[in-house]
Amino acid sequence: MQPANYTTKRPFIPLFIAALCFTLVFSLLPIPFSASASTAIVNPKQMYTYERMEKDLKALAARYPQLINLDSIGKSEYGRELWSLKLGKGPVVIFLNGSHHAREWITTNLLMGMADHYAQAYEKQATWGTFAVRDLLERVTFHIVPMVNPDGVTLQQRGLSAFPKADHAALLRMNGGSTNFKRWKANAKGIDLNRQYPADWATIRNVSSKPSYMNYKGTQPLQAKEAKALAAYAREIMPELAISYHSSGEILFWNFKTPAAHKARDLQLANQFASHTGYRLVTPSSNPSGGGFTDWFITEFGRPALTPELARAVGETNVPLSEWDRIWKQHRDTGWMLALEAIGYWIERQPTTASKSEVRLTADETAYQWPDLKSARSGKVYAGLYTTIREKGDWVELAVKGERKWIAARNLLRGKLEIPAGAVVVVHSETGIYTSPSAALPSKVRFAEQKLAVLEGWDGWYRVKTGKGSAWVKQAEVQYELPTVVEEPGEPEPSDQPAEPGQAEQPEQTDNSETSETDDNQATGTDAHEAAAQPSKKFSPAA
Ligand SMILES: [Zn+2]
Repeated sequence: MQPANYTTKRPFIPLFIAALCFTLVFSLLPIPFSASASTAIVNPKQMYTYERMEKDLKALAARYPQLINLDSIGKSEYGRELWSLKLGKGPVVIFLNGSHHAREWITTNLLMGMADHYAQAYEKQATWGTFAVRDLLERVTFHIVPMVNPDGVTLQQRGLSAFPKADHAALLRMNGGSTNFKRWKANAKGIDLNRQYPADWATIRNVSSKPSYMNYKGTQPLQAKEAKALAAYAREIMPELAISYHSSGEILFWNFKTPAAHKARDLQLANQFASHTGYRLVTPSSNPSGGGFTDWFITEFGRPALTPELARAVGETNVPLSEWDRIWKQHRDTGWMLALEAIGYWIERQPTTASKSEVRLTADETAYQWPDLKSARSGKVYAGLYTTIREKGDWVELAVKGERKWIAARNLLRGKLEIPAGAVVVVHSETGIYTSPSAALPSKVRFAEQKLAVLEGWDGWYRVKTGKGSAWVKQAEVQYELPTVVEEPGEPEPSDQPAEPGQAEQPEQTDNSETSETDDNQATGTDAHEAAAQPSKKFSPAA
């Protein structure tokens, strides 16, 4: 090394070390507080309207198509959509909803801010404490209904002008004659949506006797379209837990006649939520008044549900935006904790089954002592061939160099195929060429139509030999061909004897039955004979 180079390079070494330390320190910290302004879609620090929410929901779904799906679960009394944003890829369902009560629309701001924050964290492969955000969002799906009561919110924010003239008199009457709708809680028909659920509905206390800006429970449970849609949705998705956000007071309801068998579990969740937010747990009453969403959820599902009251007490109006920063700090990352808890509830119900099959792991995975993200970790299990020992939910236990290790099953190929020597697949310019089956998208490489040797085959995938080594192709995108077999010499054809009509029909019937049996294969471009040449399965995939 030349001295001149040495002296000029030297000042960069401490700089490099400083940069390394900086990177190390910051990679160990939880997700930074502020979502980067350049990637945020939602601006929650504003009077958040139904129209603004709808725009942001569509923008989020368009921006994160792999992670977010948007659905309408019904319409409000005035025909506004009741949107549900689904965020995550896992079987474990968490239900979050906000703005049952019109003047409590800051809960919508929070849920929209959280959805944006979680999507960004997924994309950035962020961590929360020692947990990778992706490990959580690949197991969990958040179902978020950010605005249960869009008519009421619109009335509270914009007043009479947002409603048909013909309805003004009724709205004024329900508001005690006042044109100021800041105190409005009900839907626009004057039904209090959080007095609508079938949990001790008949005996709800302090009810209004007629449609009103608050506390009118209706003439029967789930009479309001919004409450009816929400209950039907919960019954459809069967959440592990639910959070119904309200305001105000910084308190937390967690109990509704909760049976003794569930008390420890539900209290543990409530205590965790309280420790993140600083909220005070409401002492369970021996004779609570029912009809609320979480009262019903706890009763019907026997699963935990929380009602946090956001912000310091503000009285009969909306929470001012000056409370936003405080709310955001308290709640921003509660979703990760909820995900961990819900994953725990779910996995506990999954049976553990013995299994012994050959599998291919297509990406490195963190090894765990038990099928539990909170259990001890023991290094990595590297991509390769393994034999399974046990399975539980979305986890699998593998034999790894004489040890047993639990990993996520998401990157496993199963159903090994017997591939005879000389087997090939025909690829063409439309065939996706993957560096690994775990890659979300194919590589940019494309092949002109040609035959490639098959190295191994699994349910859905072949590994094929290429000029530069090997690559993966999807079974559905190629034609599989067995090696050419030399035909045994057969009987000479009796071409000089004309066949009788009866004899000629027999082969046709056989052809027809073959065709009908292989309709599925024909749909993907293989004919009956090639379909018959598909390799046989050596191991059947686990159910
Ligand atoms: Zn409320």
